[in-house]
Amino acid sequence: MDVYVTIIGAGIVGLAIAREVSNSSKNVFLIEKNLKFGQESSSRNSEVIHSGIHYPYGSLKTRLCIQGKEMLYDYCELKDISYRKCGKLIVSSSVADKDTLIQILQRAQKNGVTDGRIINKDEIHDLEPDIIADTAVYFPSSGILDSHSLMKQFETDAINNETQVVYGSEVVSLKKLNEGYEVTLKEQDGSVYSFTSEKVINSAGLYADKISSMLGLSKPENQVFYWKGEYFSLSNGKHKFVSGLIYPVPESNMVGLGIHTTVDLGGRVRLGPNALFMTDKKIDYSIDPEHVKDFHDSLKKYLPFLEPEDLVPDQVGIRPTLQKPGDSTRDFIIEEESKSGYPGFINLIGIESPGLTACMSIAEYVDQLISGFDQ
Ligand SMILES: Cc1cc2nc3c(=O)[nH]c(=O)nc-3n(C[C@H](O)[C@H](O)[C@H](O)COP(=O)(O)OP(=O)(O)OC[C@H]3O[C@@H](n4cnc5c(N)ncnc54)[C@H](O)[C@@H]3O)c2cc1C
Repeated sequence: MDVYVTIIGAGIVGLAIAREVSNSSKNVFLIEKNLKFGQESSSRNSEVIHSGIHYPYGSLKTRLCIQGKEMLYDYCELKDISYRKCGKLIVSSSVADKDTLIQILQRAQKNGVTDGRIINKDEIHDLEPDIIADTAVYFPSSGILDSHSLMKQFETDAINNETQVVYGSEVVSLKKLNEGYEVTLKEQDGSVYSFTSEKVINSAGLYADKISSMLGLSKPENQVFYWKGEYFSLSNGKHKFVSGLIYPVPESNMVGLGIHTTVDLGGRVRLGPNALFMTDKKIDYSIDPEHVKDFHDSLKKYLPFLEPEDLVPDQVGIRPTLQKPGDSTRDFIIEEESKSGYPGFINLIGIESPGLTACMSIAEYVDQLISGFDQ
């Protein structure tokens, strides 16, 4: 066998896996079709370290988010990566929403997130003097981080562990052999190259279902759907009216958490993302400026200072979700596929939010799946 483990995709999850697996194994390959790491979802998100409150009890999303949050804070501290535990407010401007806030708090507690509390108008004013809200639920353990530096550090750790990181190479075919897999790559110059790998980890984000189907593993429940998320940034000096993460009360079964404010470590305030189902699955990072009106309508309830002309088109990210409009929420798929006849092949599909928060715990989980398979 040429290679022990091949990881497909150098987004934040693939990089975290490369770092983790190479801590204890040699001959690890990380393959990325772009010329640099993190050019897709991993650099087009809110950079929020989520607390783990919104996902169903017992789900991988909940468990890996809560574990991953602590792992990330420790790692950022250890490696001197910038982060800020700025806390998160879910705000309500109507009395009717108060019951929903209580339900959010109860679900959070059931999930094991115990730092949340309901706060009143005065306490909201102390945290965010310029917003309007009667009640909120406050989670102090949420935060923001510099995701580019985090990816760079994962890459450095993996390379220090002798991982071969290959950019500009696209996996175009996978074939199951009697033992292991044949992986075929297409290079930037069009040349094609094949090698054998004992194990393959599919961490290809938006293309994870495509990679799985290269092996003939195309279960209908593994189909990835794309939801676009547009962001506008807050201009005209109004960023000074927001200091942290402010979210509306989420609707049930929604994709995303509702249009909210996020701050980055430089103090820039972004508003978004919305969630637009992409029927044709065509990658499109353009922003429709007409959406300013929807953003303004949904945000002005709690950001009274906001005028439509303060909103400037910013970035777009695309979520690789397992749900179509109207479907109920789905969990991450992280599976070693022996049962389907593909031992040593690990699928990660539908790694939408909180994939950034959970990247290190996902990596640990995948490493355990590999070790379990070895026994
Ligand atoms: C709008 C938005 C907001 C979000 N906000 C947050 C947030 O605040 N907090 C949070 O925790 N999470 C958030 N997320 C989720 C988070 O960004 C993702 O879960 C995470 O980035 C997924 O990382 P990944 O490595 O799985 O995927 P990606 O970053 O998409 O990486 C996959 C990689 O695989 C490569 N690849 C694909 N096919 C091939 C191939 N054939 N050959 C070689 N390489 C290939 C791609 O080029 C890509 O680099 C958000 C996501 C979006 C879209």
